[in-house]
Amino acid sequence: MKYVQDKVIVITGASSGIGEASARLLAEHGAKVVLGARRTERLEHIAAEIRDQGGEAACMAVDVADLDAVKSLISFAQHTFGRVDVIFNNAGVMPLSPLSELKIDEWNRMIDINIRGVLNGIAASLPVMQAQGGGHVINTASIGAHVVVPTGAVYCATKYAVWAISEGLRQESRDIRVTTICPGVVETELGHDISDEATKGQLKEWRKAALTPDAIAQAVLYAVSQPDSVDVNELIVRPTISAF
Ligand code: NAD
Repeated sequence: MKYVQDKVIVITGASSGIGEASARLLAEHGAKVVLGARRTERLEHIAAEIRDQGGEAACMAVDVADLDAVKSLISFAQHTFGRVDVIFNNAGVMPLSPLSELKIDEWNRMIDINIRGVLNGIAASLPVMQAQGGGHVINTASIGAHVVVPTGAVYCATKYAVWAISEGLRQESRDIRVTTICPGVVETELGHDISDEATKGQLKEWRKAALTPDAIAQAVLYAVSQPDSVDVNELIVRPTISAF
């Protein structure tokens, strides 16, 4: 693909789910992918498989809540592949629960990873992209950036924030493309950290109609594959059968 070939794409949360599927698909189409997440063994395994299949991939441990760590990831990408064309701020967590359970540590973790993580990705990559004269910021929000459900107040709040940050960056930018990806229900490891028993059951119900991560990776590929003058601002991708 003309506009994907040789692009250097940094992906956070690339050790599983949507991030992993996107890394594999983008590499298949000729991108040079830099995978970041906390689980290094899994990252190394995925990067090695991509290379075995003829792709170009590198990886590094990163906690997106830590700005210095995200800056190091961007420097690593520059050092390894010479530039950074795209950052896909995709890492996220979803420990859902009713507000009345007062799981304040979980609220804070969502704020730190889902919001601060995206801001850290922007802070680390924007100066590099501006110096290069262009770039592309892709953020994973959610259908939870459009609707709120019981148990999802804080998670949805973080995703509304991601939507707003993306839209603000888009309005302020002239040479940086900005894309918000809003997946509906996707079968991944997300939510494995739900500690509220009733909510675990609810997630199982929702996942009876779920997409595979590849459906979202295809949306990311579509956004990346456009010419520089075309900014795909938002893609909402739901299972056809899903009402919300
Ligand atoms: P996932 O759990 O498979 O992937 C999340 C990734 O983020 C993992 O690689 C995890 O290790 C990483 N991560 C978590 N905390 C991190 C941190 N502090 N630093 C670095 N990496 C960290 O789940 P997924 O569904 O692929 O999630 C990807 C994104 O998609 C998330 O932002 C999530 O909110 C969003 N999303 C998912 C769904 C869904 O139904 N699965 C729906 C809408 C939005």
